[in-house]
Amino acid sequence: MKKIIFSFLFFLCQNILAQKQNVILITIDGVRFQEIFHGVRFPEIAQEERGTELLPKLKRLEKLGKVISFPRMHIANKMAISLPGYRSLLSGEFENICKWNRCPNTFRKTIFDDLFESGISKEKLATFASWKQLALAIESQPGRITRNIEFEPYFEPNLTPREERFLNEVNEKMRTDLPPWRGSRYDKYTFALSKFYLQKHRPRFLYIQLVDSDEYAHERKYKKYLNSIRELDDRIDELLKILNTMGSYGKNTSIVITTDHGRGRGFLWPIHLSAFTSANQVWSYVLPSKKILDNHQLKYQNLRRKSHLDIRPTIEFLLGVPPKSGGANTGRPLIEFK
Ligand SMILES: [Zn+2]
Repeated sequence: MKKIIFSFLFFLCQNILAQKQNVILITIDGVRFQEIFHGVRFPEIAQEERGTELLPKLKRLEKLGKVISFPRMHIANKMAISLPGYRSLLSGEFENICKWNRCPNTFRKTIFDDLFESGISKEKLATFASWKQLALAIESQPGRITRNIEFEPYFEPNLTPREERFLNEVNEKMRTDLPPWRGSRYDKYTFALSKFYLQKHRPRFLYIQLVDSDEYAHERKYKKYLNSIRELDDRIDELLKILNTMGSYGKNTSIVITTDHGRGRGFLWPIHLSAFTSANQVWSYVLPSKKILDNHQLKYQNLRRKSHLDIRPTIEFLLGVPPKSGGANTGRPLIEFK
C-alpha cells in the first residue's frame, strides 16, 4: 500500500512540475508603504478617516492565506527614482550606474533576456507600460519580447472584427484622452491592452507597468493618488476573475506586485529623494498560483533584509525556472517550498 501511495505522490509531483507556471508582474509607480499598509494618512486632504483601507480585496485574500505581503523591502539603487529602480528589479542586479531617468538602454541582462534565451517565444514574453522610459529597462537587446509602451498603437495580425474594433478604440482613445503630465499614457489604457493580451496569448511572463500614482503624487493630488491605489485593488481582483475563466492556464498563474520607490513623509510626501529613508523603502505582494497553493506548503523568511533584488528570483521561482544567481545577482526568492 505504502508503495502505491508513494508512486501516486511521485506521479502527482511530476505532474505538477510538468505544468508550466506563469507570472504576471505589476508595478505601481512611487506608492508608499504608508498607504499600502496603513491606509489613508492625510485625512485633511483625503476627507476620509485616517487609516481607511485602500486595498480591501487584496487584504481579504491575505487573511485567507492566498497572498503574502512583504512590507519592509529596500530599493537596490542609490537614487530612489524610477529608471534605476526598474533596472534593478528586472535585472536582479544592484543599479549603481544609471542614476536618473534618462540613462541609455540597459546593458544588464534582464529576466526577459534570460527567459528569451531559454527558448520562450516573443509571444509568451510581454510588457505593457504606461511610462515611456521603461523601454530602456526591460531587455538588453530590444526586440526580443512583445512590448507596447506609452502612445504606441497596439496592433497584431489575424484579429476577429470584434478584437479589431476593440484595439482601434483603445489606440484612438489613449492618444486623445491625455494625462496632464508628459511621458506616459493613462494606466487604464495600459491595463485594457494587458487584459486583451493576457486572454489572447496566455503569456508565460507578462509585465504590467502602471504610473498614474507617481504623477498624481508629484502634482500633490492626494485624493487622486489614493484613487490609483484603489484602482490597483480592483485591477488585481479583475485579473483574478479573468484567470478563473482561463482553465489550467489560470490555475498555473501567479501574480507579483511591487513599486519602484517610496516617497517622503509628512508634507514631503509628493517628493522622492534617496535622502529620505521612507523613499528607499518599498514593499511587495506575492499571489502564488492556485496550483502552487494547493500542492505546496510555503515558507518565507522574515528576518533577512529584503530588497528589489529579490523580485527577479521570486518570479523565477514562481515560473519554475532556474534562478540566475552569483555575481551581482544576490537576491533570493521571497517565498520557497517548505
Ligand atoms: Zn516620481
